[in-house]
Amino acid sequence: MNNVKVDALVIGGGIAGMQAALDLGDQGYQVALVEKEPSIGGKMITLSKVFPTLDCCSCITTPKMSAVAHHPNIQMFTYCEVESVDQQENGFDVSVLQKPRYVNADTCTGCRLCEYACPITVPSSFDRGLGSYRTARVPFSTAVPQIAVLDIENCILCGKCEKVCPVGAIDFTQQPETFSIDTTSIVLATGFELTDLDAKNEYGAGELPNVIDPLMMERFLAPTGPYGRVLRPGDGMEPMTIAYVQCAGSRDETLGIEYCSRTCCMYAIKQSMLISGALPLAEVTIYYMDIRTFGKGYEQFYQNAKAMGVEFVRGKVAKITEDENHNPVVRVERTEEGDVVERTFDLVVLSLGMVAGDPLSKFGLTPAEDGYIKIPSVNASPCETRRPGIFVTGTAGGPMDIVDSIVTASAAASAASAYIRSKTQVGIEEREVAHV
Ligand SMILES: Cc1cc2nc3c(=O)[nH]c(=O)nc-3n(C[C@H](O)[C@H](O)[C@H](O)COP(=O)(O)OP(=O)(O)OC[C@H]3O[C@@H](n4cnc5c(N)ncnc54)[C@H](O)[C@@H]3O)c2cc1C
Repeated sequence: MNNVKVDALVIGGGIAGMQAALDLGDQGYQVALVEKEPSIGGKMITLSKVFPTLDCCSCITTPKMSAVAHHPNIQMFTYCEVESVDQQENGFDVSVLQKPRYVNADTCTGCRLCEYACPITVPSSFDRGLGSYRTARVPFSTAVPQIAVLDIENCILCGKCEKVCPVGAIDFTQQPETFSIDTTSIVLATGFELTDLDAKNEYGAGELPNVIDPLMMERFLAPTGPYGRVLRPGDGMEPMTIAYVQCAGSRDETLGIEYCSRTCCMYAIKQSMLISGALPLAEVTIYYMDIRTFGKGYEQFYQNAKAMGVEFVRGKVAKITEDENHNPVVRVERTEEGDVVERTFDLVVLSLGMVAGDPLSKFGLTPAEDGYIKIPSVNASPCETRRPGIFVTGTAGGPMDIVDSIVTASAAASAASAYIRSKTQVGIEEREVAHV
């Protein structure tokens, strides 16, 4: 693979990375976008609908994914991992590992015949293990790029995919390849992970089948989800009573995560409203310490949920166990009533918090106390890291919602643009500005 020279490298193809790449590309800069998964889209492409408008998530994300793929100034490198970042005189030399797809990306047409022929199914990571997909597959229906990938660890090498591929794209001999990207600036958009479902023994340590994480609920509620309806994983039954446990992975000293994850109140409210539509007879209860609805239209969204009949109970959930039918039993200290009660539900969703995604050491950066990238001057320059030329955006910098991820993406792109100009002494007017 040839080495690449660009003005800006964006690492991470979630909503923040895509927006930063588009902003820089629109200004005429040459951009490389590196994504470790086989498709761009990040967490947002897996969500059902977005608060506070309840717009379809796929309908917003897919056009952005497509715009990135077709932008004349953006080169997209999926299924790639950054290995090291070396400082050069006027930028960075970044070593990138292209993981083998076992499919020739230049010839694959995304026809999915390999997928239909593949006899092996594995749990779908896209559906957070709720559904399954084939070992040879296009990652999901709106994946960008529409190129198949073969999960060699679960492949039995039966060769059926190879036989049906009309363009001979299956290649079992592919090896990992390293190439380098020479760039003036870097935008880190590596995103977040959820706190672990099994982090708290008090909440069943991930062992209770009907206690799930909120991204699983997103997949249940998504029109593109594995079942098209909400079911509880333990026995496939439709849940009629559902509880949300707020601050299940944030504001919790026992987990060492003392900060607020900023999105959990809103996504729990959103999901409870969507459940009311999907299961009109279901009762939803949200156990919370405080409700934090800080954004534009967010407080009204909360009030709407209350008016729709979602029950809000102030209190800290102390323990979750289960009865003999695997129904979760929630023990809660209700702070307004001043008592401790136990209540049985069909399904419990833990509103897990956000933690920093990728280790920072390979980017030559150190984490702050909260595990996220240290930003030396958070009020004055919220996207600048302590390494000049490396900027941060979206949830790679700390918990935030989609609106803020997009705002910080444009801010990081603007800061990167100023930096590139200062290094290359080339103004925007001297570049060919793409109108796409
Ligand atoms: C259950 C739930 C529901 C939510 N609902 C809403 C909602 O309705 N409305 C709203 O505003 N917000 C919502 N959010 C928040 C929203 O998901 C985030 O704000 C948004 O996804 C952040 O985007 P991002 O690009 O920063 O990160 P991510 O979506 O995490 O994207 C990061 C990308 O970087 C890639 N990556 C990571 N490390 C590397 C690496 N080393 N090299 C290359 N690529 C890498 C990842 O694979 C990923 O594609 C919700 C969050 C949760 C948990």
